[in-house]
Amino acid sequence: MTDRIREFLRTRRPDGPCLVVDLDVVREKYVSFAKAMPDTRVFYAVKANPAPEVLALLAELGSCFDTASVAEIEMALAAGASPDRISYGNTIKKERDVARAFELGVRLYAVDCEAEVEKVSRAAPGSSVFCRILSDGAGAEWPLSRKFGCDPKMAPRVLEHAHRLGLDAYGVSFHVGSQQRDTGAWDAAVASAAWIFREMAERGIQLRMVNLGGGFPTKYLRDVPPVQAYAQAISDAILTHFGNHTPETIIEPGRGMVGSAGVIKSEVVLVSKKSDDDEVRWVYLDIGKFGGLAETMDEAIRYPVRTDRDHDAMAPCVLAGPTCDSADVLYEKTPYLLPISLEIGDEVLIEGTGAYTTTYSAVAFNGFQPLKSYVI
Ligand SMILES: *Cc1c(COP(=O)(O)O)cnc(C)c1O
Repeated sequence: MTDRIREFLRTRRPDGPCLVVDLDVVREKYVSFAKAMPDTRVFYAVKANPAPEVLALLAELGSCFDTASVAEIEMALAAGASPDRISYGNTIKKERDVARAFELGVRLYAVDCEAEVEKVSRAAPGSSVFCRILSDGAGAEWPLSRKFGCDPKMAPRVLEHAHRLGLDAYGVSFHVGSQQRDTGAWDAAVASAAWIFREMAERGIQLRMVNLGGGFPTKYLRDVPPVQAYAQAISDAILTHFGNHTPETIIEPGRGMVGSAGVIKSEVVLVSKKSDDDEVRWVYLDIGKFGGLAETMDEAIRYPVRTDRDHDAMAPCVLAGPTCDSADVLYEKTPYLLPISLEIGDEVLIEGTGAYTTTYSAVAFNGFQPLKSYVI
């Protein structure tokens, strides 16, 4: 929570649930990434929060952009990024979308198999490609599945195929899992990348870049290490596995760039019990899983929740959303402590919600409008 957000909510009193994003925090985060990793290019992961004001600020600060679709490429361009500052980092692309990206000037693509290399070679001839490798996501609170990336052993074949088809075999990428609390998580992936570099050099192809992905955390209920700790661990890993042959590096922060810049304002719709002797109250908010809090799935991301009554005695509550879908429960396995005095109509602030909220909200499930967003 920042003073600017508090002031905005106090004076504007927006009706209904909404996200308020403080651009000063985004600026601070960008500067701290740039300072901690001065030789690394920052490609902001647009999907985390594509608000035009956020993209425009980052473009002005010199950020590059990692995109996953033609629409995201167009958003980055509209925000003022030139196409040489945009990567098409999705490993799953329609060939006609690659062609459109190429027309728009994008020359950097992710691949993780030979079929994708062939699409890029046909639709974006001569472009640079990096091969994404699998990472197990251990230590991450929002681990990524096996959906993206290939076994490191397969990567040289994919990159050599790219080289043969006239593409620039540029490097290797990975993502160690989102909300990665372990600064050591990059070491094994950097080791794999170094092995792929050596393997390619033996084939006469010099890779040049390691894309270190995202994973940098937002502070939710528990403390997280500072950006400098990640920078140090990554730089140690690169020194260990690459020695003096330091590759170019890229990071793709999403959550770590915008998560802590946002606060969702919501309202208590109902407080009830399921039986007379029920110890745990149910607190229903006007926002839930379909209104933007999708990352509460499996209670993976645990947002800090604040009310004006937090100085009162607290008791465990189940926290749920307003829709008529029984999956729309935010926290039940591990109940939240909320003030016993909490009442219908009270304002509830959900912190750390600047990333992965607005774009996850449904268009009008049950008639509830998509999450409104104010960028200040
Ligand atoms: C989503 C995504 C990111 C951002 O991840 P965070 O954990 O939010 O930093 C980075 N790179 C790629 C390829 C992604 O898909």
